[in-house]
Amino acid sequence: MYKYSFALLLCAVIALVSVVCIPIITQPAKKTPPHITVVFILDQFAYNYLPKLKPFLRYGIKSLLDKGVVYDDAHHPLAVPETSPGHHSISTGSLPTYHGVAYNSWTSLIDYTKIRYETDLSPRGDILRATGEIQPGASPHNTTVDGLSDQFMRLSREQNRRAAYSFSLKMHPVISCANRLGKALWLDSKTGLFTSSKAYFDKLPAWVESFNKIHHDATTKPLYWKTAYPPHSKAYAFPHSRNYSYAAYPTSMITEDTKPIVIPGVSAHELFVRSPQSSELLFDLAKASVNHLQHEGKDRLLLFISLSNLDLCGHMYGPDSVECIDIIYHLDKQIADFMHFINTKFGAKNVLYALTADHGVCPIPEITAQKGYHPAKRIVAKKIIAEMNDLVEKKYRLSNFVKSYEPSFFIVDQQALLAAGKEKGDQIMHDLKTFLIAQPAIKKAWLRQEIAQLPFQIDDLEQFYKNQLYKDRNGDLIIMTEPYSLITNYEKGTSHSSPYEYDTHVPLIIHQEGAFKHTHITEKVWIPQLPHTLARILGIVRPSASPFKRLPGIV
Ligand SMILES: [Zn+2]
Repeated sequence: MYKYSFALLLCAVIALVSVVCIPIITQPAKKTPPHITVVFILDQFAYNYLPKLKPFLRYGIKSLLDKGVVYDDAHHPLAVPETSPGHHSISTGSLPTYHGVAYNSWTSLIDYTKIRYETDLSPRGDILRATGEIQPGASPHNTTVDGLSDQFMRLSREQNRRAAYSFSLKMHPVISCANRLGKALWLDSKTGLFTSSKAYFDKLPAWVESFNKIHHDATTKPLYWKTAYPPHSKAYAFPHSRNYSYAAYPTSMITEDTKPIVIPGVSAHELFVRSPQSSELLFDLAKASVNHLQHEGKDRLLLFISLSNLDLCGHMYGPDSVECIDIIYHLDKQIADFMHFINTKFGAKNVLYALTADHGVCPIPEITAQKGYHPAKRIVAKKIIAEMNDLVEKKYRLSNFVKSYEPSFFIVDQQALLAAGKEKGDQIMHDLKTFLIAQPAIKKAWLRQEIAQLPFQIDDLEQFYKNQLYKDRNGDLIIMTEPYSLITNYEKGTSHSSPYEYDTHVPLIIHQEGAFKHTHITEKVWIPQLPHTLARILGIVRPSASPFKRLPGIV
């Protein structure tokens, strides 16, 4: 009897131990190296949108949030987190001080003209277009390091099966991702057709020509904007979502399906690229490319899909607007549709997904002030430049000394500064710096050479300015605004030009079915850690100028 009970007890213990231990002693699921990598970049998708809109995200973004490795505190270490440096964080894993793309554009210190990152006037940059007016060419020649697309294509193994493609409505984000060895395709603002440059193709591939033929009137036919949810649903019921007093467009673009969108003075193309239809067209192009590449026997793909409509709309209407909110709902559905297409073709376990953003956005300052945060201010740059020039004129008899402002920096007359001599030149610059610090929306100001020498910690907001110093691509006087304030060349709308949370904190999710367990990583991480992480998962060399370690949570 006693012996019998002992045997029973032993059995129960063994059963219990095996139940408890099974998850420990079982081998972890064997990871399938991904055949396809898709990086979704939602331009201007500030992290702040997620907690606000999460109850209404039901499709692609939701499935990635529910199944992926989700980084809750991922930041761009940039003081002016703009599209080109932000995309370089994602593609090169490096900092502007190494990759050279200090901003979207910088000012020539010789003739004070604006130099856009992607502009290339050499034959290498020639745009591939049969018709249309001449415009400056485009290439990645201003990027001074390699990126993930380069490393993916450089690998000799499986070379004939590999392709790295980047797609966007705009040329600068897509060139930022394609690097030199990938291929870039963007929507030409003059013709409304997809194009590229000599930097990527000798001539436009036939499949792109065919796609263009089918969609030749995409940007010119009457455009309607129907909301993803019924217009009066809770999904849009947020304060100031229909406040157009400070928007750069005076009226809404949302017309439902009753009448086409018309905003006086705004071209059909400008309206199209701000609509949900533009990202749908981009996804259609990406699908056509995958079909074509697969037909060519290429089944090891790296795809960057940079979605610009949220950014283009955000600058006009601000992140509180129903337009921005609705674009995110549309993107949620379109991403799900694209993931379904890819998963069906290649099997979900073979596909690695990443979703992130190139930067966030500052809410419209006047709306922030209306909400009760009164320090939020807009200072129009030309007004402050006029006051600076007045000061120099009166005290030093030098006219038009301050030449221009680009977010976070002022450029002064280089020749006049040189001619003034060291002592007087230092005095002028000191006076201008003192003037700037006294302005209500400015927290700090530095001379360029001064901030270059100051020591900061990696987390310090001041360090983000140093991360963006590169040769002659910055200004003479660098400023840090107060939070929620903007110094801008525009009297309405908003931008992203500060080291603060709303501009630098973005979503970051990595997902491959069966490879990584769903988890939330709460520790602070940096977006430039992503390319190193993706390189490791793909078994390729990390981009060579990435000083960042891999992201946690990915074994
Ligand atoms: Zn952007």
